[in-house]
This record gives sequence, structure tokens and C-alpha cells, in this order.
Amino acid sequence: MIELKSVSKWYGSFQVLDDCSTRIEKGEVVVVCGPSGSGKSTLIKTINALEPVQKGEIWVNGTPVHDPKTDLPKLRSHVGMVFQHFELFPHLTVTQNLTIAQVKVLRRSLDEARKRGLKMLERVGLMAHKDKFPGQLSGGQQQRVAIARALSMDPIVMLFDEPTSALDPEMVGEVLDVMVSLANEGMTMMCVTHEMGFARKVASRVIFMDVGGKILEDCTKEDFFGNPDARQPRTKDFLGKIL
Ligand code: ADP
Ligand code: MG
Repeated sequence: MIELKSVSKWYGSFQVLDDCSTRIEKGEVVVVCGPSGSGKSTLIKTINALEPVQKGEIWVNGTPVHDPKTDLPKLRSHVGMVFQHFELFPHLTVTQNLTIAQVKVLRRSLDEARKRGLKMLERVGLMAHKDKFPGQLSGGQQQRVAIARALSMDPIVMLFDEPTSALDPEMVGEVLDVMVSLANEGMTMMCVTHEMGFARKVASRVIFMDVGGKILEDCTKEDFFGNPDARQPRTKDFLGKIL
């Protein structure tokens, strides 16, 4: 579904991704972790070309993202993305937030878009809030709306960039629950998160990135958590701090 081949990226002379390669098969859930500044956000954003790269190849479902001829708006319409900050439109209701991209990007009728959006809203347990504005919801609820909005576009893959790290602790669980159920339903997911409970529950693989933009580990969760002696010293050190 996703393949990165020797991807490197620089900001000026600063190298932010260094020869990163990985593959994500359909239905896999890959958790990306590592210290702040190691390039996790940049890596995940290369997949829908929010961050262009200077070297290497990126393939999403057979589409060459690195190719300048690729229709990026079309690609992005199939790749769901949820960020740390919910980025809902504050002046639109929840239902309007859920329908606008379906109508404008996918050219669905308003009726069809509402049906799809409300179905996804029900799935994240927020039907009762459909006519509210984002500011009337808690952070956890807003993030669940953001997930429902991404799902309304029928994505082939969902990218998450620290979706719970800006939330009050009591709201983290409700967002992770939605992500776990998505994973269990077979959604292909790449998640930057330090929620290792989530990783233990649903990850197929764990990628560890280190400063300098290198993928230091890319292994099954069983190996990542169960076999500390096989891990790189940097990974062991990092896990020791966050677990
Ligand atoms: P992470 O998500 O792991 O914290 P990022 O991908 O956000 O890491 O950033 C990796 C590195 O690239 C950091 O050192 C950051 O300061 C730098 N960086 C990110 N965005 C830019 C930018 N637009 N211009 C210059 N440097 C950047
Ligand atoms: Mg980041």
C-alpha cells in the first residue's frame, strides 16, 4: 500500500530524513516513535506530499508521489490525515465540517455527503453533537470529529501525527479507542505516537527514528517490546524513558 525507497530530505543544508525505507502492506498498523526532532512528522507528511523530498521514491497504492506529474489533490483525497491540533473549521458546525471536503473535493451531493458524514460521526460516538460548533466540544471530541471527517472521504490509508499529545489526559483514551477500533477493522494506518499501550495492542510493526532522520528500527511489535537485547542502544534508552 505504501512504500518508501531511500527517501532523503533536506531543509537547506540540514538533513531531516536520511535514506528512509519502509513498506506498509494493506491492513497493517505501523507506529512511528522516536525523540522530538527526529523527523517523524516530516516522514509521515511525505506520504501525501505535504513535504516534498529531494531523493528517493514514495509509492501509495501504485501512485508515484515523488513524480511531479502526479495529481496531488487526488492523491490527498484518498489519504486521511489527523494532526495533533484538530484543525476543524471553527465557523462551521460539526456536520458542515464533515461534508465540505466530500462536496468540494469528491463532488458528492450534499445529501450523500451528509449521510456518509453522519454515519462516521455515529461511529465515533458523537451523533448528539452534529449541530454544534467545534468550540463547544472538548478536545477529545474535536479530535474524534477530525477522525470522522477523514473517514468520510473513504481513505485507503489513515495517517496520524501525535493525535493525542495535545489532549488533557482524561481525553486520550476516547481517541485511542476510536483508533483501536479502526485498526481492528483492518484500516491501513501509520501513526506517530508515544502511546505504547496503543502500539502493544494493535501495531503490526514499530518504527523507531533517531535524530538525524534515520530509521533505526523497523520491526514487529513482538520484537520491539519483547526482545530488548536485540534493540539498538538508542532504542533501549528511549524506551526506558517513556515506558
Ligand atoms: P519530529 O516530528 O520527530 O519532532 P519533525 O519532522 O517535526 O520532527 O522535524 C525534524 C527536524 O526538522 C527538526 O529538527 C525540525 O526543527 C526541522 N524542521 C521541521 N520543519 C522545518 C522547516 N520547515 N524548516 C526547517 N527545519 C524544519
Ligand atoms: Mg512531530
